[in-house]
Amino acid sequence: MFAGDHDIERAVAELEALLPEPLRPLARIAYNYHWSWTTDGASVFEEIDRERWTRVGHNPRRLLTEVHPSVLQRAAANAGFVNRITGLATALKADQLPLSGYGTIEPAHPVAFCCSEFGVHGSLPIYSGGLGVLAGDILKGASDLGLPMVGVGLMYRSGYFHQRVDVTGYQHEYWVDSDPERLPCVKVTSAQGRPVSVSIPISDEWVEAQIWRVDIGRVPLYLLDTDLPWNSPVGRWVTSRLYEGNRSIRLAQYAVLRMGGVRALKALGIVPTVYHFNEGHPALGVFELLNQIQSQAMPAAQTDSLFETQWQQVRRQFVFTTHTPVPAGNESYHRSEVLHMLGRIADLTGDRERFLSLGRLDPGQPEQPMSMTAIALRSSRQANGVSRRHGAVARAMWQPLFAGYAQDDVPITHVTNGVHIATWLHGPMRRLLDRHLGADWLQRADQSATWEPVRDIAPAELWAARCAARRQLVDLVVSRSVADRLRRGELLDYAAAVGTGFDAERLTIGFARRLATYKRLHLVALLPARAVALVGGDRPVQFIFAGKAHPDDTAAKEVVRQVFSLKSSADVAGRTAFLEDYDIPLAGQLVAGCDVWINVPRPPNEASGTSGMKSCLGGGLQVSVLDGWWAEAFDGSNGWAINGDVDADHAAQDQRDAHALFDILENQVVPMFHERDADGVPLRWVDMIKRSLMSNGPRFSATRMVREYAERVYLAGRS
Ligand SMILES: *Cc1c(COP(=O)(O)O)cnc(C)c1O
Repeated sequence: MFAGDHDIERAVAELEALLPEPLRPLARIAYNYHWSWTTDGASVFEEIDRERWTRVGHNPRRLLTEVHPSVLQRAAANAGFVNRITGLATALKADQLPLSGYGTIEPAHPVAFCCSEFGVHGSLPIYSGGLGVLAGDILKGASDLGLPMVGVGLMYRSGYFHQRVDVTGYQHEYWVDSDPERLPCVKVTSAQGRPVSVSIPISDEWVEAQIWRVDIGRVPLYLLDTDLPWNSPVGRWVTSRLYEGNRSIRLAQYAVLRMGGVRALKALGIVPTVYHFNEGHPALGVFELLNQIQSQAMPAAQTDSLFETQWQQVRRQFVFTTHTPVPAGNESYHRSEVLHMLGRIADLTGDRERFLSLGRLDPGQPEQPMSMTAIALRSSRQANGVSRRHGAVARAMWQPLFAGYAQDDVPITHVTNGVHIATWLHGPMRRLLDRHLGADWLQRADQSATWEPVRDIAPAELWAARCAARRQLVDLVVSRSVADRLRRGELLDYAAAVGTGFDAERLTIGFARRLATYKRLHLVALLPARAVALVGGDRPVQFIFAGKAHPDDTAAKEVVRQVFSLKSSADVAGRTAFLEDYDIPLAGQLVAGCDVWINVPRPPNEASGTSGMKSCLGGGLQVSVLDGWWAEAFDGSNGWAINGDVDADHAAQDQRDAHALFDILENQVVPMFHERDADGVPLRWVDMIKRSLMSNGPRFSATRMVREYAERVYLAGRS
């Protein structure tokens, strides 16, 4: 059905050959991340060899090839275990039914979803954070809905950085290379067995990229990779690191993903109905498609009006999602930078100046830098933000590009983000909802009626699930942070304090996100006396922090230091933990276990935010600024809100919001958590969890999001 099918078949057969007969179905399961959101998927692999499953980073291909044959033999002899494999294989097969299409989107002409990162699973290290996780959830949602889609991205050999924090709280980075030959993916080859590749003119080199395929349910994800021995060292480096600090390399990555991505799809025989660029500008893709059309057409004199007609025609095949609500977050490049890396691409378009002018806020000003978002808006038929508030912010921000439009009429809509429930809801809360919401409830998860039975769950039963989830998290925090502290070179007493200080029954508050300054982790450290009192009082809470700062963001790195400065208090040492190396597996455990999830971005900088949606699924309650998704989710009774008005005086706003945060925690959250009935169940708290599940569960699912993309973006505006 899609390019690379025969490569997947060959890889499955090779892996099968290594397995005892009863375990053979695992080979096909291992080559499709479908297992990762299927009940029992992860536990089947884990039970083969728990220790090794951890060591191979939950990568099933590596597990099956590296585990000792005697372990496989033992598993194969266990009839109950083999039955579970059959169950998984059946679920995968049921999911792999041929696509019949979605509306008028046919399998032969899928949506091409392009993104610089994809957060599908912890074992596929080609993501950094929210944007990638969203992209991964979109592919999974499309697979669930049977929406024909292919993903296009880059195969980063070194991925995003790993984080270590030293004794002073300062962040250090290191990179680990991954070997695609050991990931659950295949190199795409032609019918003649030769690797499919494309070439892209970058600076003065033709950089060649090969293509890997990873299966996400029914959606193939194609990843371009320039690490080929015949490319120059710089050419090979292009797809090395995600969010590379070097600006020229970033421009080269844009060229590989945009222009290379469109070329790759052509080389793979895929003719998309629409190209969806999730952040990142489609312009190079539009030009590439234009080139393809022009080279097929009869040669005609290129006039400006002919160009304009063709450009408009091609542009109708591109849609764009922006995620960046502040001008500074929108990258821009000077003409010399652009021409140095992309000069030959600009020439291919026939007119360098026209190419550059598309990225200027005012095309008539040759010295203006090339804004990536401006060029994206001009080169797509439709654009959207990722929450209702962000849509309005984006319309105001980009109005200057749309002369003659009133602000409200600027053609940027919104599709509010959602999260893939089967990926993010697991453990005790998943089992609870499976028991109460009826068979196949996940397929109906975007309907309010599906969540109605939550109302009647016995409070003690819901509370037991929450406590079990918290207990799992506390175990993890203890084991991880004792080790983190020892590695950091902390004194033994301090390192061990987490082990004795963290309590499975205690109110557990999480703050984990990318550490950009606008996320304002520093609010927690702004009122140190109140923070210390909160963890040290007679009804103490415990805090868990996690998050990475971009390597070049020294201001954000300082914030971790500020939080670390609280640790001299004895109570703090045992009741707060900073967990290093925030990634998908850690995020999954944090959102599942925390009672309260804090989000205090400086409004209006949070385009959406998604970790709070994940936390809601696990029965976590939100304490959040009314920004991003929370501005449309908060209804007065499903969590707590901090004012979301914009204030130009950042210091004053930080003070005010820090006080508001501690007011809510001290006066509402802590008392409500401790208000218990005769059986120790916090009835009002449980009631709030129910309201949160029933109101947020149906609205912030990936199914709802992908359906909206299909109906309001992909199918709308076609001509
Ligand atoms: C969900 C997620 C994010 C995004 O969280 P925000 O709320 O948008 O900050 C970032 N990183 C990881 C690993 C995630 O799973």
